[in-house]
Amino acid sequence: MTDRYHRSRELFARARQVIPGGIYGHAAPATTVPGGTPFFAQAGHGCRYRDVDGHEYIDLMCGYGPMLLGYHHPEVEEAVATARARGAAFNHPTELTVTLAETLVRRIDFADWAVFAKNGSDLTTWAVQVAREATGRRKVVKVAGAYHGSHAWCSPGHGGLLPEDRQHVLELPWNDVAALESLAATHGADLATVVLTPFHHPAHGDSVLPSPEFVAAVEALRKRHGCLLVLDDVRCFPRLHLGGSHRAYGWQPDLAIYCKAIGNGHPLAACVGRGDWQVPASRVFLTGSYWHDPAPLAAALKVLEISDREDIPARLEATGRRLVEGLLALGKQQGLALEASGPFALPYVRVGNDPGFQRTQDLCVAAAAEGVFLHPHHNWFMSLAHTNAEIDEALTRLGRAVAQVSAQGS
Ligand code: PMP
Repeated sequence: MTDRYHRSRELFARARQVIPGGIYGHAAPATTVPGGTPFFAQAGHGCRYRDVDGHEYIDLMCGYGPMLLGYHHPEVEEAVATARARGAAFNHPTELTVTLAETLVRRIDFADWAVFAKNGSDLTTWAVQVAREATGRRKVVKVAGAYHGSHAWCSPGHGGLLPEDRQHVLELPWNDVAALESLAATHGADLATVVLTPFHHPAHGDSVLPSPEFVAAVEALRKRHGCLLVLDDVRCFPRLHLGGSHRAYGWQPDLAIYCKAIGNGHPLAACVGRGDWQVPASRVFLTGSYWHDPAPLAAALKVLEISDREDIPARLEATGRRLVEGLLALGKQQGLALEASGPFALPYVRVGNDPGFQRTQDLCVAAAAEGVFLHPHHNWFMSLAHTNAEIDEALTRLGRAVAQVSAQGS
């Protein structure tokens, strides 16, 4: 371990005394490179943040997605402050709940209704229950390696789970039409839902776009068996398409879930659905202590307004292309083979021929030391706050990291 993250390590030692595992979930040091990147953040502005040791980073992870417009975006923070000044969690919803539902119904072509919660997991799980309620069936098909949250039916963890939790969950490889048809042949009459992300963005793997054949096969299945397509758009919306990521690839969802970026960091998740499922949805219990808190709803309304004004998908695609093409060119210059996958707005780049991700981890450690925060086995995120000048600055810094890893050899 390097001394560069001294204060991070001190805090982690304190955390381990009083918090199980010290830091849990995707922010745990073990999920990146233990000791090689910071553990604790201090403050952020625009596309940069500082860690507790005072180092500044150009952030290419965007808080794992929520930071769409930049940390502490003035218009969003003003909307939040105005809502917050009126109070926090009331006995009732406020008008903002209705206004945001109306806004999403206008924006998302298939949606006739919306509900809100705080986390993606809250609503991927609820959507599965709605699909079961609507169809009276049990089986859920998901893609192996796809993440849909921390709840028992889909958690990638092991602790505290029972085999029964997954009894009705069936998995298939992404884009595997034959596997989908075989599952349908065996379980069609009991098939409640297929849960998919817009494109496959597994941890510890390259991103893969959907093949037109896979999209068509899911649609045929939906029509033939009357099961629901739940699109888990938690990670992508609105980076790929302002009308929902299904529009980018031709999916025909029944329900879709949005989260991460919708409040630019203020906690909110939304599930929208077709009118056919509004009555069954009303029968599936849904609540949470803070779910009507108006401030994140105000944030989301502002985020959507700014996303339209700034044409977020086009901007992020251009920014991501500049980053990815620049990085691949640096690899070529320095003799380090790099491979990119996924859409430019949520790109993923790793060192080629690196099955254990060791060299990709080395690259991320070297990048952090140069002031650029990347992840070795999770897709990255672009934001509106990444200007061309900041991408170019990131590339200059990454050039030194690439040279260092290239010099280390394989
Ligand atoms: N689905 C996807 C695709 C996600 O990326 C995530 C969060 N990483 C979730 C669901 C779960 O969301 P949350 O962590 O807010 O519960």
